[in-house]
Amino acid sequence: MIKTRFTEMFGVKHPIVQGGMQWVGRAELTSAVANAGALGFLTALTQPTPEDLRKEVKRCREMTDQPFGVNLTILPTLVPRPYGEYIDAIIESGVKIVETAGNNPKPFLPKLKNAGIKVIHKCTSVRHGISAEKVGVDAISMDGFECAGHPGEDDIPNLVLLPAAANVINIPMIASGGFGDARGLVAALALGCEGINMGTRFMATQEAPIHDKVKQALVAGDERSTALIFRTMRNTSRVFGNSVAKKAIEMELEGKTIKEIGPLVAGTRGKVVYETGDMEHGIWSAGTVMGIIRDIPTCKALVERIVGEAEEMIRGKLSRAIAA
Ligand code: NAD
Repeated sequence: MIKTRFTEMFGVKHPIVQGGMQWVGRAELTSAVANAGALGFLTALTQPTPEDLRKEVKRCREMTDQPFGVNLTILPTLVPRPYGEYIDAIIESGVKIVETAGNNPKPFLPKLKNAGIKVIHKCTSVRHGISAEKVGVDAISMDGFECAGHPGEDDIPNLVLLPAAANVINIPMIASGGFGDARGLVAALALGCEGINMGTRFMATQEAPIHDKVKQALVAGDERSTALIFRTMRNTSRVFGNSVAKKAIEMELEGKTIKEIGPLVAGTRGKVVYETGDMEHGIWSAGTVMGIIRDIPTCKALVERIVGEAEEMIRGKLSRAIAA
């Protein structure tokens, strides 16, 4: 067992988090992660309405008696979403852990804290981490440039981002972006974090509720298989480098607006990729961690492998590296 301030604070067995993932963070995956002793998150915006989120929380509870949370990402969307109503749904569902992302969580914090909810804020820079600590979140998930989805605009990979953040952030910090195996977990602990967050790696598991072709693409892909879209709009997103992503970049470089590119990149099209396995139907998020994903285990096997090998590495290879 690897015990850290994170495992203590959130009441989970292992220092591993399955962070929010649009269309993927559903009850099947989140409950499997929870049952494996790690911390899973349902993704609020995957549910079309706050009422659907209430039902999803209930469904997840029927599949696990272990703690899990809800992710709420606040970023530009093609169709406006009622964030306040999603917050109310989370609170009314009795969920006790929330992952905020994409924007400053300050406006929502009083409500969440009054409801006794612990908040992990996912951010992509040291300065945003400092602000989040100041406004009172309980932990930070620090997301480096390697990550899937939105890495921010600073392009700082985790080898520098994490220790730079650890130098100035006092609350527990989870390392996010590029993590997928025991080597990553041990490195994260060494870099000043108390656990790891994995998204793409959890997509390539038996329980992830997505088409097998997507999982096979993650195994076949390597560290160069992603593309960065929305760079010109300062809303960078790392996605699988398929023909749709390439077309979106082309349109951006031609100076097309989000209104013109929107129909191509809409999340509703990415949802079809996950449902049907039609890999060129839309954009879908994936991280550079594809470079180390080589199989599709169960969540339990994956979590146990990572923690088991990490313990072995710390006790064995690393301690033996010290000269007598
Ligand atoms: P959507 O269909 O509303 O939008 C598709 C993409 O276009 C998203 O990446 C969105 O950020 C971008 N976009 C929309 N309006 C924009 C604008 N005015 N300027 C620049 N970019 C714009 O998104 P969705 O797939 O339904 O996802 C819902 C939300 O979840 C989005 O905000 C999305 O970014 C976010 N998300 C976050 C992650 C993550 O890394 N945490 C991963 C996937 C999706």
